[in-house]
Amino acid sequence: MTPSTFENLWQEVLSEIKNKLGEKTFNIWFNEFSPKTFIHNSLKIEVPSKFVKDWIEKNYFQTICQIIKSKFPEVKAVEIIVNSEKTTIIRQKSTVFKRLQSLALKTSKGIFDINPQTNLNPRYRFDNFVVGKTNELAFTACQAVVKNLGSLHNPLFIYGPVGVGKTHLLQATGNEICKIYKNLKVKYITTEDFTNQFINSIKNQSVEEFRFRFRDVDVLILDDVHFLSGKISTQEELFHTFNFLYNLSKQIIFSSDRPPALIPDIEERLRSRFEGGLIVDINPPDFETRVAILKMKAQEKGLELENEILEYIAEKFTNNIRELEGVLSSIYFESQLNKKITLEIVKEIIKRFSKEVYRKFTPRKIIKTIVNHYELKEEEVLLKKIRNKNLVQIRQILIYLLREYAQLSYTSIAELLKKDHTTIIYSYEKVVEKLKTDEALKQEIEILKSKLNEV
Ligand code: ADP
Ligand code: MG
Repeated sequence: MTPSTFENLWQEVLSEIKNKLGEKTFNIWFNEFSPKTFIHNSLKIEVPSKFVKDWIEKNYFQTICQIIKSKFPEVKAVEIIVNSEKTTIIRQKSTVFKRLQSLALKTSKGIFDINPQTNLNPRYRFDNFVVGKTNELAFTACQAVVKNLGSLHNPLFIYGPVGVGKTHLLQATGNEICKIYKNLKVKYITTEDFTNQFINSIKNQSVEEFRFRFRDVDVLILDDVHFLSGKISTQEELFHTFNFLYNLSKQIIFSSDRPPALIPDIEERLRSRFEGGLIVDINPPDFETRVAILKMKAQEKGLELENEILEYIAEKFTNNIRELEGVLSSIYFESQLNKKITLEIVKEIIKRFSKEVYRKFTPRKIIKTIVNHYELKEEEVLLKKIRNKNLVQIRQILIYLLREYAQLSYTSIAELLKKDHTTIIYSYEKVVEKLKTDEALKQEIEILKSKLNEV
């Protein structure tokens, strides 16, 4: 058989499959269905992922074998194989964003190394922190702390919502202290790490060593202490660490997403320690500050943007500086391809950006997307008993999406699907676990995400 007759016959196979199963099913499962080899009367067909392979084998194998045999009578065996190369290509296409982020991470890693002793990242400095009305007090307080270590504001407690520069300020303060007082021991740590290290030290019977690590410092900076909520034994440990350092007039700095009085499930005696020094808040930057921040960050990247563009971005993103930085990274990425960045391009990028990251979906929309994508009936997805393995996986994907993209609690998902709470947690964690290694599943979820974004 010549290649061209093969190709023609294959096209006939495809159109027959399309006729038989309908265009929609065809587009979902057979878009990348292509013959790989035809040796010893055995035809190997490639598909882009294991998930697609399983699905086709479960549901359409007989049909396609019949069709193939009617066109290629000499075919004795049909085998579906996964082309992992395709998987990665598709995946990469649909996760431009992730690649971007990892690119940004990579490029920043080489230049800025986190100091293992202090945990400080030299990228955070006072001189690259833009001061505006909403962060001025916190900034001034940090500078005052540097000048009057352990005496003026102790502890210093800074609180504010996500992405307003708390970590930046805390770390900048630490870096400045290291610069000025060369011999002082500064330690920065997130409360989450503090908690984990404490728990591990109990497990490994090295609590003494843990205590020493956090008491043998001159400045302790603890980020995001709201994380302590409900963690009684870590609270107790921190209480004693605090007293130890405080009594030696060592400087302590805390940050949190809310003031001490509003952190739930926290011991009174620890709360009163948090409240014992200066408490300052920090809020999302105003328009002028946002423009100034953008200008500085663009310059850092060597990116020249007109004021009109900076102002446009600053108008669109009002709360979180991390979002501003995300947009700038995308623009930077685009500038590598396009050279001149116009307002039009920026609008396009922001549109894409908002879709990818910030859009929340309703549970209804997620269920509908799943139902359409897998050509199922709603009852099949939501019903209590599940018939086959594929449906189990689809149900798990649904739970994952509901949690990640509709931000539903486990309890609400349990109610919605009429399942118990532990099953829901198990399913969700199962997907999270699989996603670490299963490229096919990752791709599947990317496809669903792009479908969610379609309307
Ligand atoms: P938070 O800890 O409050 O969630 P971060 O300190 O992580 O926020 O800030 C998020 C990002 O925004 C960081 O990259 C930080 O450098 C940057 N950022 C925040 N505020 C400012 C500012 N006033 N000037 C410059 N960069 C800022
Ligand atoms: Mg932070």
